[in-house]
Amino acid sequence: MVYDQLVLRYGDLTMKGRNRNQFEKKMLRQVKNALTGFEGVTYWKTYGRLYVRLNGHPYGPVADRLKELFGLTSLSPVRSCSPDLEDIRAAALAVMSALSTPPKTFKMSVKRAWKKFPHNSQEMNHLVGAHVLRAFPELSVNVREPEVELRVDIQEESAYIFCEVIPAVGGFPFGSNGKAMLLLSGGIDSPVAGWMAMRKGLELEAVHFHSYPFTSQQATDKVIELSKRLSYFSGTPIKLHLVPFTDIQTSLVQAGQEHLIITLMRRAMLRITEQLAERHGALGIVTGESLGQVASQTLPSMNVIGRAAALPMLKPLIMMDKQEIINLAVKIGTYETSILPYEDCCTLFLPKSPSTNPNMRVVERIEAGMKELDDKIAVALQNTETLMLTPNSDNSAAQAGEDSWF
Ligand code: ATP
Ligand code: MG
Repeated sequence: MVYDQLVLRYGDLTMKGRNRNQFEKKMLRQVKNALTGFEGVTYWKTYGRLYVRLNGHPYGPVADRLKELFGLTSLSPVRSCSPDLEDIRAAALAVMSALSTPPKTFKMSVKRAWKKFPHNSQEMNHLVGAHVLRAFPELSVNVREPEVELRVDIQEESAYIFCEVIPAVGGFPFGSNGKAMLLLSGGIDSPVAGWMAMRKGLELEAVHFHSYPFTSQQATDKVIELSKRLSYFSGTPIKLHLVPFTDIQTSLVQAGQEHLIITLMRRAMLRITEQLAERHGALGIVTGESLGQVASQTLPSMNVIGRAAALPMLKPLIMMDKQEIINLAVKIGTYETSILPYEDCCTLFLPKSPSTNPNMRVVERIEAGMKELDDKIAVALQNTETLMLTPNSDNSAAQAGEDSWF
């Protein structure tokens, strides 16, 4: 095996002091969680870098798992050796020999972080580069557009030789920026919004409103499936709150203002979500809204809807185009589940011409006239079922409510 370690790079350069320590601790825990299936791998860290010792595992599957982790910017499989010229030369040849297609051109990039090493970076570029050229007569140097950049990182404890830099998803380690509630429908957008929010370090609890029996068990199953996928990315179990919405929806429909029904429903959803947020210590509400996509996502609509909640509304997709959102959904593996046919509680009652410009006063008047609304919200909260989901959760057990604690 050519590579014995992976070096993991992370972190925002502006992060300092205690923040950085917290970040590093969380990052390490996350890496360990993600790699529990790879027996024997070990970890160690130096300032600003985390290393995984592969102990015999091929790097590919380990790297594939790690590049999805929030907070890592890139990673490289490296061959380590003692910081000694001859050892570095030998390692450089080993790394070059392991390339699946032998390159025609290359470039040396030596970084000497350990200043006591006897040769400086420039000298090392020549000393190692010439050695590589002697071993591979077909190879030539091209500093502008090399096919391969052979990098040597000389630290006091070891030198690291590598040529591959695998980009990772970036962001912050999961949960390092507090907690928010995610409004999760079965559609394409909200799971992507959830992924983006988690990438920024937010811990999420998902909330889904269903109108059983108008909406089917399959519709809920989709949301369970999507939550499980999100839990795969967070590396921790995710809570999914299933809120029975039928009763509230029915009375909103009876209020008779068809074009405002979506506005009213969304406001009721936000009220309930805000109470759930308070119970669970969350400080924001994440949605999959994207400006102008549908009637409820115009600026006037979002204004009237958003006023139902005091918590900050976080809308990662707000300025994205649908195709960009779809591309991301495909990339994170939620798209296939999201496009399964299902009835959403909102599409069921979708009026022919939903308002794109709801009037705040009219909305407030309707709500004030619905004396039963607060009670119904309280009942919905009481009957909310909470599931704790992991990527491998058994749906049937989850549905039986075994994990519910309301
Ligand atoms: P999505 O693809 O996420 O369903 P959408 O483009 O279909 O979004 P809407 O149906 O208007 O848009 O929903 C806007 C946002 O409201 C959703 O992204 C989601 O965050 C939230 N939402 C909608 N329906 C529900 C639901 N049944 N339960 C929880 N949240 C919902
Ligand atoms: Mg939807």
